[in-house]
Amino acid sequence: KTNLSQKINSLKTSATLAMAAKARELKAKGKDIISLSLGEPDFNTPDYIKDAAIQAVNDNYNSYTPVDGYPELKKAIQHKFKRDNNLDYNLSQITVSTGAKQALYNIASALLDPNDEVILPCPYWVSYRDIVGLCEGKAVEVKTSIDQDFKMTAEQLESAITPKTKMLWYSSPCNPSGSVYTKDELRALADVLQKHPQIIVVSDEIYEHINFIGGHASMAQFDDMYDRTVTVNGVSKAFAMTGWRIGYIGAPEYIAKACTKLQGQVTSGANCIAQRAVITALQAPVSKVQYMVDEFSKRREIILDLLNALKGFECNQPQGAFYVFPNVSAWFGKTVKGHHIKNATDFSMFLLEEANVATVTGEAFGNPDCIRISYAASEAQIREAIKRIKEILQ
Ligand code: PLP
Repeated sequence: KTNLSQKINSLKTSATLAMAAKARELKAKGKDIISLSLGEPDFNTPDYIKDAAIQAVNDNYNSYTPVDGYPELKKAIQHKFKRDNNLDYNLSQITVSTGAKQALYNIASALLDPNDEVILPCPYWVSYRDIVGLCEGKAVEVKTSIDQDFKMTAEQLESAITPKTKMLWYSSPCNPSGSVYTKDELRALADVLQKHPQIIVVSDEIYEHINFIGGHASMAQFDDMYDRTVTVNGVSKAFAMTGWRIGYIGAPEYIAKACTKLQGQVTSGANCIAQRAVITALQAPVSKVQYMVDEFSKRREIILDLLNALKGFECNQPQGAFYVFPNVSAWFGKTVKGHHIKNATDFSMFLLEEANVATVTGEAFGNPDCIRISYAASEAQIREAIKRIKEILQ
C-alpha cells in the first residue's frame, strides 16, 4: 500500500514507452531485438540545426527564457504558420512548450472541468486519453475501421456530441494510422461543429511534413473555425529532434495565455538552447528535411509490400507519419507456437517473444484489432523484422 494519489494510480504508463522498455530489457539480456515500436525518426538532427545550438551555447544563452518562448522563436513560428498553413497568428496567440506533449497537457488543464467530454476519434495517439483523464475530463471514443481509412465521419461526430462535449482532439497525419484528413473531410466535420459552438478543436499537426500525398489541411484555415481551434505542432518528427523537446501552439489568445500561465507555474519556458536551434529549423526552407520524408516514403512501400504478403494482416494505406496499423484480428483465438492469442496485446507480445520484433498493441490507441508498426527503422531492419514475423507465423 502506498499513499500515492488516485490520479497517479489511475494513470497508465505510456504503452509505447513500456514496449520500448521491455525491448531494451530483452536486448540487455542479449536478445537481438528489432524495435519497430517507437515514434521516433532514426535520423540525426540535421547539421545546420545542431550548429545553431552550438552557437547558442557559445553565445551564452543560459538564462531562463520568457515563459511563452523567445520572441525570435515566436516570430519564426508565426512565419512558419503563414508559409506552410496560410494561418495568421499574432505573437500573443503563440506559446512554445516542452514538446507538443506539454502543449497538449496545457490545453487539457486550461480547458477541462471535471467530466467535460473530449471526443477522440479512434485510433488516437496514446497520450490523448491519459492526458484528458489526468485533467479529470472524460474521453469519448469514436470507433473507426480500416474500411473508412480510420477517419471519423461527420455522422459519427454528430452522434458523439452531447451537451457536455468540450473538445474534439485528433491528429492528421494520424499517429497510429497514418491517415490524413482532406480539406473536404475537415469541412464536413466543421459543418457539424457549427451547430455546437461550445466545442474547441485541438488539431495536432506534428506529422504535417511527413505526408506522402501532399496537401496538408488545417482546421483553423476555415474562417468559422479559426477562433475555436488550437493548432498544435512541433519539431520532434519532421526535424528529427525528439529529444530537444520543443512544441508549440497557435490558438485563440485567451487559450495561449492560459497555457503560458500554467507552464509558468510548472516548468517555466522551454529549454533555451533548443529554442535557439528551432529558430534556425523553422526559418530554413522545409525542403531541407525532405530527404527524410523521401526515405520514409520508400520504406512505406517496402513494408506495405512485405506486410500485405503476410497471412492474417490486413493493412491500411498510410498517407503520412511513419506507421502502419494492420488489423491482425484474424489471428485472435488461435494458438501459435504455444501462445494462445486472444487479442492485439497478446499478438504484439508474441511477436516480441518469438520473433524478437517490438511493435505496439492497438489497444493503447483505442483499437483492439490492430497493432502499430513503426517504419522509422532502416530498410535492412524492416526486411529482417518482417521475415522473422513471417517465419513464426508459418
Ligand atoms: N502528438 C502526436 C500525434 C505524437 O505522435 C507525438 C509523439 O509521439 C506527440 C504529439 C508529442 O510530440 P513531442 O515530442 O513534441 O512532445
